[in-house]
Parts: sequence; structure tokens; C-alpha cells
Amino acid sequence: MCCEFDLHLHTSCHSECSVMTPEEMVGRALEMGLDGIAITEHEYTWSDEEIRELVKKTHAETLIILAGQEVRCYERWEIQGDFLVFGTRGNFYAPTARELIQRVHRSGGIVIAAHPYRSGLSVLGAGDMVHDLDIDALELHHPNHPPESVKKARRAIERLKIPGIGGSDAHHADQVGCCTTRFHREVHDLLQMMDEIRRGRVRALQRNFEFRDSGFDYF
Ligand SMILES: [Zn+2]
Ligand SMILES: [Zn+2]
Repeated sequence: MCCEFDLHLHTSCHSECSVMTPEEMVGRALEMGLDGIAITEHEYTWSDEEIRELVKKTHAETLIILAGQEVRCYERWEIQGDFLVFGTRGNFYAPTARELIQRVHRSGGIVIAAHPYRSGLSVLGAGDMVHDLDIDALELHHPNHPPESVKKARRAIERLKIPGIGGSDAHHADQVGCCTTRFHREVHDLLQMMDEIRRGRVRALQRNFEFRDSGFDYF
């Protein structure tokens, strides 16, 4: 059954908070039997060249490696939450969630609310604000989403008629693939991935899931 992806990963290459090297990330993704991964560093999108180099270094020709970025949004100096962005290489400097979504949509990309109801460091999740945003999907399964959070996220998904995805938000290799997204159809590149999410042909999975309450592993 194709295709299982971890859509939320940070490496020590471009996320200072991560202790996972890109090579470790790829190694663990293969070990977990994932078909693909999306690297989503904080405010940075890997270039195609960087991805090609990584594939060459790790001989991971069978693993599909995509790149997006995780953007933190603010309104009047207050954090609104983190959002995963795909399909645009823009640089975003502390935008509001609405500005971010508008800009990304204008350039043909998608925006996914990251861990909207996270328990540790809850300020980093958009919370109920997701109900008023034109997001394309939200992270349903995440290591900081206990069952109550999943319930709230499910309610939002149903109301907004958008899909839920799963992502590990791994900052350490052990965490890769603990939450994943299954695509009903084959996905080989970023455009297909975005299209399948827009059409809602995905399912969020918890695998190897271990709830973490501290929140300090992930930020
Ligand atoms: Zn993250
Ligand atoms: Zn981080």
C-alpha cells in the first residue's frame, strides 16, 4: 500500500533546535519503511540541489524527499501558531496567519496548521483559530497531541472539510515516523503530494506513538 510519508521533520542542518543530522533522518526513515519524507525546517526550505546532494550521500534513491518549511505566525507580537508550508520558496518574516495563507495560496502552495492543539508549549499551536482560517489541512496526529487534542482537531477537520495529516516533528532520529500520513494514491513529487492533500485523499496515522507532554523536545 503506497504511500506513507512523515511530513514534518527538522534537521540540525537548518534548524538549530534539532540534533538529527540529515543522514540520520534518512537512515531512520528507511528503517521505518517510509516511502517518503518532507523536511520542514523552521523558516527555511531546502533547495533541490541540497536534496540531490543528500540522496547522493545516503544512496536513498528509493525514498522520496520533499521540502517545505514551518513558519511561525504572529499578531501584534503574540504567537498565533506554527504552520507547515509547501509549494513556495518565499521568505516569511513573522507574518500573521492570514498573510501567510494568502501569500502561499497566491503562489500555488498549501498551508497546514502544525500541531494546532499541542499540549506542551500550547502557544505554538493555532488552537481554535483554525476554525477561522483558510488552511488546506491540519496536523491531526502529532506526538504532542493527546487524545483530547485529537478530538478537537477532528472536530475542526469535520467542520472545515479539510484532511488531517500526521507528522512526527522529529528533532531526533528516534522520533522519525512516529506519526505519518498515508496517501491513497502514489505520490512521487511535491505537486502530487499537494494535490492529494487538496483532494483529501490522505489519512493520518499514529505509529510507534509515544505521547510527550514536556513539549521541550519540539519547538
Ligand atoms: Zn516542527
Ligand atoms: Zn524546532
